[in-house]
Amino acid sequence: MIVVLTGGTGGAKLVEGLAGEIDPAELTIICNTGDDAVFHGLYVSPDIDTITYTLAGLSDPVKGWGIAGDTFTVLEQLNRLGNDAWFNLGDKDFATHISRTRLMNEGGKLTEITDRIRRLLGVQSTILPMSDDRVETRVTTTQGEISFQEYFVKDRWRAEVTAVHFAGAASSRPAPGVIAAILNAEAIIVCPSNPITSIGPILAVPGIRSALAESAAPMVGVSPIIGASAISGPAHKLMLASGFKASALGVADCYRDFLDMLLVGAEDAALREAIENLDINVIATDIRMADRAHRRRLAREVLALARKWSRKPLSGLP
Ligand code: GDP
Repeated sequence: MIVVLTGGTGGAKLVEGLAGEIDPAELTIICNTGDDAVFHGLYVSPDIDTITYTLAGLSDPVKGWGIAGDTFTVLEQLNRLGNDAWFNLGDKDFATHISRTRLMNEGGKLTEITDRIRRLLGVQSTILPMSDDRVETRVTTTQGEISFQEYFVKDRWRAEVTAVHFAGAASSRPAPGVIAAILNAEAIIVCPSNPITSIGPILAVPGIRSALAESAAPMVGVSPIIGASAISGPAHKLMLASGFKASALGVADCYRDFLDMLLVGAEDAALREAIENLDINVIATDIRMADRAHRRRLAREVLALARKWSRKPLSGLP
C-alpha cells in the first residue's frame, strides 16, 4: 500500500496523478477533517469530498472543489429564504452532505460513511478520515477567533492571523485503519497541502505523528510553497503565524521528524543545504501541476524516489 496524507485542492492534484500511475486500489489516502463544518444542518467534509470527487472523475478542474457542471439552485433559494449561505455548495454536492448527515444521525462513523460514499461513486482507493472524533481548526486573527472556513472562504484569508489551533485534537483518536496503514505502508507521500491547516490537523491527532516516525516506509513530501509564497491559498501566511519560515525550508521543518525526501521547486535549489541539515534529502524539480500530464509526471517522480529509497520492491508500481 502507498499511503498518502492530504488536504483538498493541492493534495488532490497529486492524488489524481498517483491514481493514474499505479493501481488506485493500492492507495490509502488519509484526509484532513479539521476543515469540516456544519452548514444548513448538514455535515460537510470538504477535503474528503474533494479527494473522493477527484478519484471518481467528478471534480471541477477549474474551481478545485465541488462537482464539475454542478448547479447552485438550492444555494440560491437558501439565500432567498434568508439563510446566510456564503459557503458554496452545488446541488449534486448537497446530495453528498445530505447522505452523510443522514448516516451520521443513524449512528454511522465518518470512516464507514466515507468508505460507503467512495464505493458508491466507484472510487477504488481507500479514503480514511484522520479521525472519527471532531477536531476543528480554529484561526486566531487580530479581530478574534474564527473557524477555518470563515477565514478561508468567508473572509478570503484577508485577516491577519496570529495563531492556529486544533480544538479537540488532544482527546481525539486516529480513525480505524490509520495507524495500521502508516505502519504497514510501503511508502508514505505527504502531498503539497497546507502544512498548517491541512497536514497540521492530521499530525495533531495523538498517535499519528509517532507512527510516522516509527514506520520504516520511505516518506516523500512535495512542497506547496515556491519562493516565499504558496502556489495558491494562505499557507505562507499561516506558516509565519505558526512560527515557521514561509518557504520550502519551513515546510521541511514542519515534517523534520519523519520526512526522508522533499521535492521543492527548481527555483528553490539554493535551499538544499539548509534542508539537508534537517536530515531531509532535497530534489529540486518542477513541482507545479498545471494539468493532468504534470500531475502524472510529478507522481511518477515521487513514486520513483520512494522506490529508490525503499528497502524492498514496491508492489503496485509499474
Ligand atoms: P485545501 O484543503 O483546499 O487547503 O487544500 P490543500 O491544503 O491540499 O492544498 C492547498 C495547497 O496546495 C496550497 O498551499 C498550494 O500552495 C498547494 N498547491 C496548489 N497547487 C499546487 C501545485 O500545482 N503544485 C504544488 N507543489 N502545490 C500546489
